[in-house]
Amino acid sequence: MTDDDGILNKVRPHGFTPEEVRDFEIAIDRINRVIAVYSAQYHERRDDPVAVTLLRAEISRWVRMQESLSPGDQERVAAIRREGEAIIREARGRSAPWHPGESRRRPLGDDIPSELAARPPLARSSLEAHLYMDLHPCACGETRFDRASVVEELPGGDLARRYTGRCPSCGAEREFVFSLPQEPQDLETGEIRYGDAEPSELLDAGEWLWVADSYARLVPPQPHRLPEPDRRRARTLLASAAAAIDEVLKLIPPGDDRVPQGAVRSRVGAPVYLREPGRFRAPRLIAVRDAYQSALRLFG
Ligand SMILES: [Zn+2]
Repeated sequence: MTDDDGILNKVRPHGFTPEEVRDFEIAIDRINRVIAVYSAQYHERRDDPVAVTLLRAEISRWVRMQESLSPGDQERVAAIRREGEAIIREARGRSAPWHPGESRRRPLGDDIPSELAARPPLARSSLEAHLYMDLHPCACGETRFDRASVVEELPGGDLARRYTGRCPSCGAEREFVFSLPQEPQDLETGEIRYGDAEPSELLDAGEWLWVADSYARLVPPQPHRLPEPDRRRARTLLASAAAAIDEVLKLIPPGDDRVPQGAVRSRVGAPVYLREPGRFRAPRLIAVRDAYQSALRLFG
């Protein structure tokens, strides 16, 4: 076993207990559903200025709740889940059948009234867009769907790509919209890169580290000695892990030496950060990235 393998093996998986992560995911799902309920009411009651004001305030409150919730916050997770379920129950009792898949549409801007939504987040490459969709499963847990896509023009004149398809497990309609880069990017070099020098808008640093860990874990020891096609697969995994660590490094603010905790809020990313904040320091990230690249060089 080489030193490189030793370092690879030290990359630890993320994680709270499975129960904490599950409860957190349920609470996030309830928040999304509540936002969908209020958004539908907002559109129904556009002509009622009092209702519009109240609903806007409620939608903002639930969006902020989603942004600030952490899996370690077990009491808040439970309270949000209770409050959300009561709102969803009440809405169900008085409206048309409600389709759970709709509440999981991403990005979040798609669920909230267009006046409140910013432009869709930028996908610097299709690789990055697909990674984002992989990280945001259907309400039923399925990540796959037929990802047909069209390019369309946004109100401001910028271009966006809309991915749509039906969940193969529960039949819900899935939909994601991403802004496209102003300038076409040169990502077709054959190497795995998720974007250019600009940091990601889609994934936070915790999600990128989780992605890197997930790929690296699948690389067997001595990967350059494997027979084809396992060797090629291992090389792709390692290159993807190194590229994902590069993305974590891009999310360190200029002049800083670590990713700030406040910048990691996603369902997948927050547990990675809270479990081991030291992994988000630049020197440690660079050491891990260099270990992956040394292992890659052994492939010749
Ligand atoms: Zn589904």
